[in-house]
Amino acid sequence: MTTQKHDNLINGQWVAGASYAPNINPSNLADVIGDYAQADAAQLDAAVQAAQAAFPAWSTGNVQARADALDKIGTEILARREELGTLLAREEGKTKPEGIGEATRAGNIFKFFAGECLRLSGEIVPSVRSGVSVEITREPVGVVGLITPWNFPIAIPAWKIAPALAYGNCVVLKPADLVPGCAWALAEIISRSGIPAGVFNLVMGRGSVIGDPLVNHPGISAISFTGSQGVGGRIAQQCALNLKKVQLEMGGKNPQVILDDADLAQAVELSVQSAFFSTGQRCTASSRLIVTDAIYPRFLQAMQQRMASLKVGDALAAGTDIGPVSSLSQLEQDLDYVAIGQAEGAVLVAGGQRLQGSTEGFYMAPALLSDTSSAMRINREEVFGPVASIIRVKGYEEALAEANNTPFGLSAGIATSSLKYATHFKRHSQAGMVMVNLPTAGVDYHVPFGGRKGSSYGAREQGRYAQEFFTTVKTVYVGN
Ligand code: NAP
Repeated sequence: MTTQKHDNLINGQWVAGASYAPNINPSNLADVIGDYAQADAAQLDAAVQAAQAAFPAWSTGNVQARADALDKIGTEILARREELGTLLAREEGKTKPEGIGEATRAGNIFKFFAGECLRLSGEIVPSVRSGVSVEITREPVGVVGLITPWNFPIAIPAWKIAPALAYGNCVVLKPADLVPGCAWALAEIISRSGIPAGVFNLVMGRGSVIGDPLVNHPGISAISFTGSQGVGGRIAQQCALNLKKVQLEMGGKNPQVILDDADLAQAVELSVQSAFFSTGQRCTASSRLIVTDAIYPRFLQAMQQRMASLKVGDALAAGTDIGPVSSLSQLEQDLDYVAIGQAEGAVLVAGGQRLQGSTEGFYMAPALLSDTSSAMRINREEVFGPVASIIRVKGYEEALAEANNTPFGLSAGIATSSLKYATHFKRHSQAGMVMVNLPTAGVDYHVPFGGRKGSSYGAREQGRYAQEFFTTVKTVYVGN
């Protein structure tokens, strides 16, 4: 079978890869989406050099032209959201409605940052010296390396590329090797937007091959990374040694607290959504359901009932609630953690086994483990699949302590009808994002996104706060 070849975008040209790798549909392993270029270090170097050459003109160029280009990209993504969402579902395994939702988010992000091009501002302040004035301005950082994970293959590239370009930086994007299709489609749209050659470059390939050359390249001024804690930590060390700006968004072990006074139906729905939708493969997924004593038996029973109604299947099929796991290695990791949890003393109360679909794919029944404690690995380590555990607690104070008892701090939720507890939780949760009567996953695109502790490092992403990372401050003194 011949498949279409997809090349890297370097200096405005489509450049053949040193080799190609197939992009395979996790719902149907017989379906090859296409062959995608694998860059080597020489191609990576060419992309960085092209970006460096494009930087002087782009960084000082007309902001209306930048805004127009970003707006055009956003318009095309939104017009093609169904097609792009379908591609996303086919390569990553999210359901088609989830894929379309993510593509829509990517389009909206470009539209938002089209406006931000015109809103970047500085300050003029009085000097402490007579006859002197002080101006504080923001300038682009330079050539930025963007490294993205497989679980949001269009939204995360979008939320890094759009602010990088809006604030006048040039870009080298390395998407996740598992899902290059959406990044390639996005690059193709960007290549026709009027942005000059070299301003945006796409270099596909393995992190183990081109990751180090990208992070350590002297032409790269800053790295924005989303992915696992292990890889992120190593990148931060490399950036520190090379004195580069770095921003890391990493894993989560997000708590969903359910108090006795919660609306039971709402608590179950938001727990199911944030633990299992998108196959649990969201950094903001709730993997720890912390439930107080009085509601616990009703909550457990209602969860089992609701989980029994979930339809796991082909991501593109109508009626599928939960698509496949994205890869075999991720599926093995998910099943391993179910076994690890049970070996630690947890009780498997729903799902947890591999499923056969109508086609060969990486299907898994969402797993719920009860009788767990915060000391267990299942509650300390990120699984990154449709696996959630219940921690039973006596009351609110214990629930809050357990919610914060984690090395991560991305998102945290509370289901309660009590204003007192909701207000206290908002202030005392040690997470970067707090949800009251909402799933821990699912955020707006125009406000800051990020966490604390082991989940995030460096400046926040998204919304106006993105300028902290993608600009650098200059202080100018003018003598009169
Ligand atoms: P990953 O294995 O850390 O990979 C992330 C990216 O880093 C991929 O593009 C990967 O390339 C690349 N990479 C691997 N080794 C590298 C190296 N030595 N140098 C430079 N880059 C390297 O993470 P993942 O499995 O794709 O994604 C899942 C993780 O992302 C989870 O931990 C999840 O929580 C996290 N995540 C966080 C957020 C957030 O905003 N907090 C959002 C989404 C996901 P390859 O694809 O070739 O390995």
